[in-house]
Amino acid sequence: MHPLAKLDHQFVWHPFTQMRDWLRAEPIVIVEGRGAVLRDARGREYLDANSSIWTNLHGHRHPRLDAALRRQLGRIAHSSALGLANEPASHLAARLVAAANPPAVAGPRLAKVFFSDDGSTALEVALKLAYEFTRRCGRSARPRFLSLAGGYHGDTMGAVSLGHIDRFHAAYRGLLFKTGAVMAPYCYRCPHNRAAPERRDAREHRRCQWECVAQVERKFSRARAAGRAISAFVVEPLIQGAAGMIPQPAGWLRQVAEIARAHNALLIADEVLTGFGRTGTGTAEEWETGGGAGKARPASLFACHREGVQPDFLCLAKGLTGGYLPMAATLTTPAVFDAFLGEYGEFKTFFHGHSYTGNQLGAAVALASLELLEAPAQQRRRRRLEELLRAELRPLWQLPAVGDIRQVGLIAGIELVADWQRRTPFDLRRGVGQRVSAAMARRGVLTRPIGNVIVLMPPYCTAPAQLRRMVAVLAEGIEEATAGQNP
Ligand SMILES: *Cc1c(COP(=O)(O)O)cnc(C)c1O
Repeated sequence: MHPLAKLDHQFVWHPFTQMRDWLRAEPIVIVEGRGAVLRDARGREYLDANSSIWTNLHGHRHPRLDAALRRQLGRIAHSSALGLANEPASHLAARLVAAANPPAVAGPRLAKVFFSDDGSTALEVALKLAYEFTRRCGRSARPRFLSLAGGYHGDTMGAVSLGHIDRFHAAYRGLLFKTGAVMAPYCYRCPHNRAAPERRDAREHRRCQWECVAQVERKFSRARAAGRAISAFVVEPLIQGAAGMIPQPAGWLRQVAEIARAHNALLIADEVLTGFGRTGTGTAEEWETGGGAGKARPASLFACHREGVQPDFLCLAKGLTGGYLPMAATLTTPAVFDAFLGEYGEFKTFFHGHSYTGNQLGAAVALASLELLEAPAQQRRRRRLEELLRAELRPLWQLPAVGDIRQVGLIAGIELVADWQRRTPFDLRRGVGQRVSAAMARRGVLTRPIGNVIVLMPPYCTAPAQLRRMVAVLAEGIEEATAGQNP
């Protein structure tokens, strides 16, 4: 075993990992990366097919991001945001506000930025602000939250309370506060979808009456009738990530946002995964009109804007720094900000913050990442990559173990099944997803499954040949791991 692997085995406890399994095999120890390629301690190369757990945007060691970091290192790495402002965080806040208010999207203006460290803390901030705002403006003394079945918002206690993934949450139920859950659209496995399985995306050939939207309306109305009105609705827009890459059919987000608004609830958009162009560069129409600005650029970097929805809270993390450093931001409206204004002695202050809030290295690299994201040539490149991914995934429908292929922008989930004609899932205990990933890793492509769903999420810098290789290896991995499998 490599000495670094030995050290890891001896001392490191890994996240979301059964350590008994981990300790059975020599781990891959990453020592370098460039673009979409990672290199391990033994000199083997891998394609980073899930963008280092959904964080990396422009590839590893991008010259522009590296230069921005070095420039900032030449000045200062970090100073406190408690009592002090700093240069890159000020610029970044202004740039985020500009990006979060595209002209074509109506609704509340996202005017203020609260920085924190990761997706979980971005959600904690939104949660606490929404809670206290609701109380202060007299809407409710006991604010209640509604979120989606299968939703994942992070691993701190508030974020866990908002989430609804039983396997992660069951053990800690005693520590959590109660939140409502409502059905999320999952067309492939929806009990209301009367369409028989076909060899294409379930969203496109579904037969239903939008029962999922009706349930959201019912949830809000019943809560109100029972005197327990819902104060805030939390959603992952366009696609739920950790739930298994579950995309929403077009129009769902717009409809449920209208319902929430009609019931006077705040809308919290968790764009920790979907932000910064992950869900695509927009429709051809948006591309032409530049979201109404008359410039040849897509409407927005954020998923909720694709459905014309502007939330009261926009939570950002993962891709914010291009995948370089942990940093997060929660954007909100002047109304929320103003509710925390007062004389010092009134103690209306938002008593919340982290040691590394507004970190200067993180902010500097985030600014460089935003600049890359907004360059038209970069956007055209992303658009071509999206189209190539769509084309490359299409032949996978021929594999009998593939039940559903769902792509939103540069996110793809491939759901594996024992019998596609009946949508029979593989028993999760058999670890089919794990085995596919292991077979892919042996062929030099790294990704992490969610149960029976294999995730492909290439960095935006991925070359066409690299993308083809990722999909080809995925197909081989599926064939190897599912050969002769029963449920
Ligand atoms: C990853 C993720 C989070 C949590 O972010 P961390 O940085 O891991 O704390 C929250 N929400 C969504 C949608 C995510 O994908």
